[in-house]
Amino acid sequence: MTSHEIKFTKLFINGEFVDSISGHTFETIDPRTEQVLANIAEGRKEDIDMAVSVAREAFDNGPWPRLPGEGRRKCLLKLADLIDENVDELATLEVIDGGKQFASVKYLELANTSETFRYFAGAADKIRGATLKMSSSMQAYTLREPIGVVGHIIPWNAPSLMFAMKVAPALAAGCTMVIKPSENTPLSALFLAHLSKQAGIPDGVINVVPGFGKTAGAAISSHMDIDAVSFTGSTIVGRTVMQAAAESNLKPVALELGGKSPYMVFDDADIDKAVEFAVIGNLTNKGEMCIAGTRVFVQEGIHDIFVEKLEAIMKSWPSGDPFDVATRHGPQNNKRQYEKVLSCIEKGIKEGATLVTGGKPFGEKGYYIEPTLFTNVKDDMTIAKEEIFGPVISVFKFKTVEEVIKRANATKYGLASGIMTKNIDIANTVSRSIRAGAVWINCYVAIDRDAPHGGYKMSGFGREQGLEALDHYLQLKTVATPIYDSPWL
Ligand code: NAD
Repeated sequence: MTSHEIKFTKLFINGEFVDSISGHTFETIDPRTEQVLANIAEGRKEDIDMAVSVAREAFDNGPWPRLPGEGRRKCLLKLADLIDENVDELATLEVIDGGKQFASVKYLELANTSETFRYFAGAADKIRGATLKMSSSMQAYTLREPIGVVGHIIPWNAPSLMFAMKVAPALAAGCTMVIKPSENTPLSALFLAHLSKQAGIPDGVINVVPGFGKTAGAAISSHMDIDAVSFTGSTIVGRTVMQAAAESNLKPVALELGGKSPYMVFDDADIDKAVEFAVIGNLTNKGEMCIAGTRVFVQEGIHDIFVEKLEAIMKSWPSGDPFDVATRHGPQNNKRQYEKVLSCIEKGIKEGATLVTGGKPFGEKGYYIEPTLFTNVKDDMTIAKEEIFGPVISVFKFKTVEEVIKRANATKYGLASGIMTKNIDIANTVSRSIRAGAVWINCYVAIDRDAPHGGYKMSGFGREQGLEALDHYLQLKTVATPIYDSPWL
């Protein structure tokens, strides 16, 4: 498929697609061709103000927060069904806007997107507090109430799924919201906004305002009338968002940030499985994954054979047109990211790592980079420390369990980790010693709607997915009353 009709290019505010107040637009680019796909209405501060004011009205006076949970459940289930019914169109938008592989986004990511709405639909009518017996002659209960108007700031690597991970729990909790998709991938969020209206979600509850980080994004994080912010993106921008929240109305923020995750392969591991998961953990979505296991530590006894097998797979990794079902590797999402990955590769070579395969762009047009493998990587090299967010694997050799734990933890990040071993003692020791939000034993990318996801250290805080995701969108109120004349006092 080479062309596609793009139906929605305007801001979605109060249930309508509207131009931006300034009339400005920005281009969204097809990373396969470097051609402009569409001109998108550019939201700025005044558009965010408008979206917040309708979300505020929908929260303070509208039906959504006041509906019984089952009312919200029905809308979320309907939205999930609509996503499934429109999966080809959504998948196509993700391919042309972000270079994602069609079959993978259709059958995995978008299936997960609709299931995320179903998961939180199931939670919408089960949000409840506790009954307390206080020490004095009082009784009390807690109410879990929606926090109010929330702002969601989303990156470009998994636009529909991130939308669901933020919007579904916020809707289930009864919040109203303003969503800013990445300026690189605005199309799917606008399409999902259109589906949300069809699903019966009242006007003003979901507002989608595409725009740039420094204008629209900053207007969200500093807004005095937004009650909580959920941000996914880089650590550096996460810090800015937190600062803005602190300097405005002290709104709580949840930050899902970057990573540089260790993937540790021990001598006794099933080597073919270990190679397979190294590939899955690094080349899925062209390596544009926060959880990528980019620091591949291999114990010395199997290091050379591991590298040989990994090289063979990477050399023949099917790369090219993301609409081709056989393709596993398409273009990087955008020009800036493409240039960043190439510059990291250049630094790897300059700093003395061994380039085993890849390292170059390919194709006559588009942001394509070969799957790239480095060995002899030292812990202080740039490629060992910086998040690359592309198809680049670095292999490190290690000797002992104690050594690998120390080196794996020697990072400012703490998002995910992988352990490949048949030895239960190694698995137990390492999993308890690693400072990261996820440990995957004999697998990798074990992301699931029911599994809380989030970071340690500078990979952020707060959890998405799992029932824990609701916590960011709810407040706890304690209601107490004296009990008079009770024979049970
Ligand atoms: P980014 O930080 O550049 O942008 C993320 C979002 O923030 C975009 O919508 C952007 O417009 C907005 N933004 C930029 N500047 C802003 C500002 N000053 N104020 C408010 N908003 C602003 O990140 P990216 O390049 O879009 O995404 C890649 C990063 O996201 C990587 O670091 C990756 O690890 C991270 N990520 C993390 C997770 C996770 O779950 N931990 C998931 C996916 C991506």
